[in-house]
Amino acid sequence: MVIVLHREATLDQRHAVESRLRDLGFQVVYSPNGSQVTMAAVGEGTMPPLDEMRALPGVAEVRRIPSPFKLASRTFRTESSVVKVGDVEIGGKSIVLMAGPCTIESEEQLVKTGAAVRAAGARIMRGGAFKPRTSPYSFQGLGEEGLKLMRRVADMHGLLVISEVMDKSQIALMDKYVDIFQVGARNMQNYPLLRELGSVERPVLVKRGLAATVDEWLMSAEYVMSGGNDKVLVCERGIRAYETYTRNTLDLNAVAVAKSISHLPVIVDPSHAAGIRDKVPPLARAAIAAGADGLLVEVHYDPEKAICDGPQSLFPDQFTELSGQIRVIAEAVGRTLQS
Ligand code: PEP
Ligand code: MN
Repeated sequence: MVIVLHREATLDQRHAVESRLRDLGFQVVYSPNGSQVTMAAVGEGTMPPLDEMRALPGVAEVRRIPSPFKLASRTFRTESSVVKVGDVEIGGKSIVLMAGPCTIESEEQLVKTGAAVRAAGARIMRGGAFKPRTSPYSFQGLGEEGLKLMRRVADMHGLLVISEVMDKSQIALMDKYVDIFQVGARNMQNYPLLRELGSVERPVLVKRGLAATVDEWLMSAEYVMSGGNDKVLVCERGIRAYETYTRNTLDLNAVAVAKSISHLPVIVDPSHAAGIRDKVPPLARAAIAAGADGLLVEVHYDPEKAICDGPQSLFPDQFTELSGQIRVIAEAVGRTLQS
């Protein structure tokens, strides 16, 4: 349930509404939205008749939140959220490019790839130090050594850092090096991890699980938000369908749906959706046309030699060309490209 107070509501009236909600067993969360005080009653409380709440002094409006996710819903917050990281804003008018290798391999790899993606307009560098590999025998990532390298190289190029956290035990370590925590598709329903990320200061990007519905995906975002962290981004990265030509199937329906039922910024990862280098740019272009707020793209200075996901990693020149196209498409849909 969302309660909006009158602009003239007094502090005492606000406290009275809040304590009524707490007496009913709800947790009260304020929306940072707009000039009118907006609060959501979430949790296991007993729902009162809405008219009873409407009758309380100072109350302007009471609405039920029909979706299972509450804080992530547009009913709670009608304006799109803008997540600020350093001097980058995600979710506003301006589109953000995040790019880099699948996995951190070496200083040379990061320096060359970082320089190329920054020159092409990326503001955030991606790269995994802890890799969720299908096989336990595959390269598992460089861990802290990789994070240190990425932080240094990103700072050198004026880039921010996004990297995947696989387990809650990695949060404290990663917090020293990253700007955004990425929750991978395989961990979208790792609830202890999501809960722990609810109490970090940094933004969290939640990827959609391979077989997750939009509601399940947004419920994972809700887990993080319910812990007090409202800096959440959601990322569509392709779902498993019956088609085998591509690695996954990019669900642009989900982008349009998530944008309408949630206020959270929606990012698209066309790389893991396509799995094939040449198919990444068309999907990326379509994602921006469909309303995505940013892209997460795998780029490697020498993808043929990449340890992980080389076949889907763009050459730097391809990324530069794509960035130019994204700029044009962004303008066509009333947006700009942050660069
Ligand atoms: C990744 O971004 O490197 C990754 C492992 O992606 P996903 O979790 O979407 O498979
Ligand atoms: Mn990858």
